[in-house]
Amino acid sequence: MSKIHLLDPRLANQIAAGEVVERPSSVLKELVENSLDAGASRIDLDIEEGGVKLIRVRDDGSGIGKEDLPLALSRHATSKISELSDLEAVASLGFRGEALASISSVSRLSLSSAQEGGESGWVARSEGRDMAAVLEPIAHPRGTTVEVRDLFFNTPARRKFLRTEKTEFSHLEEVMKRQSLGRFDVGFSLRHNGRAVHSLKPAQSQLEQERRLASVCGPAFMENALFIDRSAVDLRLWGWVALPGFSRSQADLQHFYVNGRYIRDRLVAHAVRQAYRDVLFHGRHPAFVLYLELNPTSVDVNVHPTKHEVRFRDGRTVHDFIFRTLHKVLADVRPDTVAQNAT
Ligand code: ADP
Ligand code: MG
Repeated sequence: MSKIHLLDPRLANQIAAGEVVERPSSVLKELVENSLDAGASRIDLDIEEGGVKLIRVRDDGSGIGKEDLPLALSRHATSKISELSDLEAVASLGFRGEALASISSVSRLSLSSAQEGGESGWVARSEGRDMAAVLEPIAHPRGTTVEVRDLFFNTPARRKFLRTEKTEFSHLEEVMKRQSLGRFDVGFSLRHNGRAVHSLKPAQSQLEQERRLASVCGPAFMENALFIDRSAVDLRLWGWVALPGFSRSQADLQHFYVNGRYIRDRLVAHAVRQAYRDVLFHGRHPAFVLYLELNPTSVDVNVHPTKHEVRFRDGRTVHDFIFRTLHKVLADVRPDTVAQNAT
């Protein structure tokens, strides 16, 4: 008798979920990325009990058609890429077609959606071991609502690793902050247990963007931040860097985006650290919100399932550009404009 058998789809998805769904905030990250990829101009987030009881993401994006709803919940099903060459210049935040399948295998998920001109909305829920989706009509404005309830209810090992409601909510809030600084043109709201925590209108002008920054990073950051915008061949670095006097005891106010994607990258971190080396005391960390733009073919985003890491084709050039730009900006700061140390 054969010993090898195919895993049932739910179990296969639960194994895949191990990579992308670590805690409630990882779910939120994936859902908001989907809303942004769908062209949403407004995204409303509703959280209950640190995301363990409920994570609801509602957007006004393109929506999903009835026949695509079950597919959206299947593994390796995506509308964002179709061939290998697409991977060389990914323009969307998602492309792996795994998030919804993974999340739905470790929670009670419903996906409601309606498209422009569609006759009505539909809701899909996937149930049972074979993950077959059940479809029902539902009233829904154009856009999509994803509800994730009882996260990890069927994977006690994962559930055990969750921290307090307060800690999980602070991770969720961090995800919202990151996403909201990545897309000034999109409005965001965040509620926790029915209480409004953030409400951010779309920000077009630099003044409106700085208002959002003050609300997300704190007014003290904004008061001590310099706006920069430098370009070189095929590279542009812009954003806000805090004056050396506004340093932090932790690296907790560092936002770096590559082509709109929030990343944590060693090469970038090193370049920034080097630039601040002469102006910061040992053990202090700089604060910044920076955007690097370059040709999408010059950067590989398919390095890790969470897509927090990237690989630059010409890492040395990128490193030098970031270092030289920031170094120059900091060297030009006159000492009398240096503010007091924060935290
Ligand atoms: P990926 O984002 O990598 O394509 P997901 O599992 O996150 O994979 O989503 C699967 C598909 O479902 C997406 O490719 C997209 O077509 C559709 N989808 C998911 N969320 C939304 C949304 N909020 N609005 C419109 N379409 C969505
Ligand atoms: Mg996705």
